[in-house]
Amino acid sequence: MESNEGEAQEKHVLLVPYPSQGHVNPILQFAKRLAFFGLKPTLAVTRFLLKTSPPEPGLVGIEPISDGFDEGGYAQAESIPAYLARFESVGPETLDAVVRSGKYKAVIYDAFLPWVLEVGKKYGLVTAAFFTQSCAVDAVLGHVYKGRVSLPWTEPELLLDGLPGLGPNDLPSFLSDPVDGPYPAYLQLVLNQFLGLEKADEVFINSVYELEPQEAEWMKKEWGAKTIGPTIPSKYLDNQIPGDTHYGFHLFAGADRCNEWLDAQPPRSVIYVSFGSMANLDHESMRELAKGLEITGKPFLWVVRASERGKLEENFNGEGKGRVCEWSEQLEVLGHGSVGCFVTHCGWNSTVEALAAGMAMVAVPQWTDQPMNGKYVEGVWGVGVRARKDENGVVRGEEIGRCVMEVMEEGDKSGEIWENASKWKRLSVEAMMEGGSSYNNILGFVEKYYGRVRV
Ligand code: UDP
Repeated sequence: MESNEGEAQEKHVLLVPYPSQGHVNPILQFAKRLAFFGLKPTLAVTRFLLKTSPPEPGLVGIEPISDGFDEGGYAQAESIPAYLARFESVGPETLDAVVRSGKYKAVIYDAFLPWVLEVGKKYGLVTAAFFTQSCAVDAVLGHVYKGRVSLPWTEPELLLDGLPGLGPNDLPSFLSDPVDGPYPAYLQLVLNQFLGLEKADEVFINSVYELEPQEAEWMKKEWGAKTIGPTIPSKYLDNQIPGDTHYGFHLFAGADRCNEWLDAQPPRSVIYVSFGSMANLDHESMRELAKGLEITGKPFLWVVRASERGKLEENFNGEGKGRVCEWSEQLEVLGHGSVGCFVTHCGWNSTVEALAAGMAMVAVPQWTDQPMNGKYVEGVWGVGVRARKDENGVVRGEEIGRCVMEVMEEGDKSGEIWENASKWKRLSVEAMMEGGSSYNNILGFVEKYYGRVRV
């Protein structure tokens, strides 16, 4: 128990997320874990996010900082490089004002924002980088950062220490096609995660050791990294943190969620489809996906964000079989007894959530780390089937239908997938229970820098 003010000061930790849905969620959840172990965490959130979708952080405090776009956020910037450059020039100053208070002992920052390290060092704070992607993806990027892979990689197989053999379609998209569209800026962003990393006191990865032990060991050997995931609300994992029932941060809050409809469906009958907060499918891919769902003849719940709705036929509902909603309570849906398959873009958070829920997947990766997550879903964890693109780079409706049926229709393949899914669910939960791999790594951090603070 806190004995005096001085001791209370000693418990503070500042966490700095990159301001997007898939990055705020995991770091906010990690902050809640630290609170569970007795620390007093505060999240530094951009003014734009605070204005538009303020997190409900529970035990976690909030400090506003600026990315230089307080009115419009990312959408206000001319381009990705312009956004990142302005964030890097305005961010340190506003963060400096927060850190200068002397309140914090440590700063944990999203590795997308390597400049936070310098602000932390300037004030003598303990510094910890937080990688939001898988160990496997981080390891590949680490090899690229060290100059061991020539880009773009188009050879049939890439063999790297700590990783399985990878084809061009298994790699993060920036590596096999780094010269197209916005990719150079994103490639730079993901490689910059390693900038100055050797100076960080700790490196955390939002993953589970047991899911990818070889890859985690490689990241440990090279950068001393430790796994601390899955960073999903305790209610859906270990159920040890009272009140930790949801992320508390929704960019699309208030949208129609359709969850009641699920209650009326038979067990394991529904296909849940979501491509996360950012993916933009082209019109043709949307039409094919709609066709694929209809081919299966099964009920579906499809999340189509308002900005994407125009790509679908008006009032499309698969001839009454399905529902289209703008945003879902995804964790609630993945744990719902009527859902029998998750058609996913394989964003890392969605992948981890499905693994922890023991849900089988159809992987339809789009870009960035998603192809590699899709490869692991099918080829390493065996918890799903990856849909193949045709020669024009489109996943056809027939292919979606085939994959869904493999997962949902009874048979050897489906049986194996569901067996694996329940194994990974168990291992994900165990990692966060007392003595588990993530539990030990989080407790180790708290004890090393804060002493025994848990009450
Ligand atoms: N999500 C949600 N409802 C939806 C779609 C997504 O709550 O309808 C959440 C999902 O649970 C996950 C996050 O949004 O935590 C998406 O992160 P992910 O890394 O999967 O994809 P991204 O949005 O970064 O592409």
